[in-house]
Amino acid sequence: MPELFRAAKAATMTPGRAMIDNAAIIVERGVIHEVGTYADLGTSFSGTVTDLGDVTIAPGLVNAHSHLELAHLLGKCPAGEGFVVWVENLLQQPIYELDDQLLDQALKELQRTGTVMVGDIATRFAKHMAGVLEASGLFFAVFVEAIGEKLPRKTFIPKGDFDHGVLSVAGHSLYTTHVDVLKGAKAEAVQRNLPFSLHLAEHDDEVAIMAGEPSAFLDLLQARGRLLDFTPPKKRPVQQAVELGLLDETTLAVHCVKVTDEDIESVRQSGATVCLCPRSNEYIGVGRAPWEKWFASGTPLCLGTDSLASNTDLDLWNEAVYIKQNFHGELSFEALLAMLTRTPAKIMGAGDRLGTLEPGKQAVFATVPDKIHELFQ
Ligand SMILES: [Zn+2]
Repeated sequence: MPELFRAAKAATMTPGRAMIDNAAIIVERGVIHEVGTYADLGTSFSGTVTDLGDVTIAPGLVNAHSHLELAHLLGKCPAGEGFVVWVENLLQQPIYELDDQLLDQALKELQRTGTVMVGDIATRFAKHMAGVLEASGLFFAVFVEAIGEKLPRKTFIPKGDFDHGVLSVAGHSLYTTHVDVLKGAKAEAVQRNLPFSLHLAEHDDEVAIMAGEPSAFLDLLQARGRLLDFTPPKKRPVQQAVELGLLDETTLAVHCVKVTDEDIESVRQSGATVCLCPRSNEYIGVGRAPWEKWFASGTPLCLGTDSLASNTDLDLWNEAVYIKQNFHGELSFEALLAMLTRTPAKIMGAGDRLGTLEPGKQAVFATVPDKIHELFQ
């Protein structure tokens, strides 16, 4: 039995399609069947009509970077004191103890705020997280985090068959993950036609470590017995990622705060998508990515909340508000919404199911909240 949803406006995010006034979406078995105006579709329709009222609906949101394993660490790490202090505190937390109740609360918060898919980094419990996400009804790409010096005995990506998502692999960073491990992880993702993710150019210590310059963070890692035979490539992070073949159109490069104009051009040429995590960067105190330059470059961009250890909530709309309020110059509603919908859905391999409101896609909507509308008045 088909169902018709009516809303005052629909931002379908289908390229080239303008906002629809007095919109109607016909849904059958959870899949969008037709999208148009109520005047066109409503008159001949005989099924159930649900009037969503005076709202703007949009495709369900995609949070491109989270660490749901850390859902129990809200407020546990200090804000604004820089990456080294933040990570020192993080490492004193029970980072490998899942809290089912707080995890469930985090999933509910995602759903309540319009998110329908997450790109989640899992350090220890990838298969478990994929199972929990599948059960919650959220779509997902869970990235097993490759970290350290050792290649796995078999493969990075565990077996698992899910209706709502995939398991893949992410490199932790250019310095905490050995170059052979990074290359192996990327190769496996490519070979299996899966997205690859990597924290890239997040903070000044990363730049210093890669350059072979003194770094308090390197001291901290080496005091813990890590990176003892690390050889700095003497390159900027982005240039090293390019050199290792880690950036291409199936890579999601996360943060990209510490970048030069040349780095931005290299990323753009690679075809990689960049995930900005503005509130996490602000919370940790690493600085702000050159958002305006990223936009101007034409690089595909999306947004992530990062973990609750470096953010106050998982409401992706708040990420959008933050970037819009602090943006220098013009940032259109369409460009902002693309970062939350079409672009991340595509890079995470869900472009055939999510990211736009058009026939054949999943009938999962978000409602644009007042706090977003107010920014564009
Ligand atoms: Zn992260």
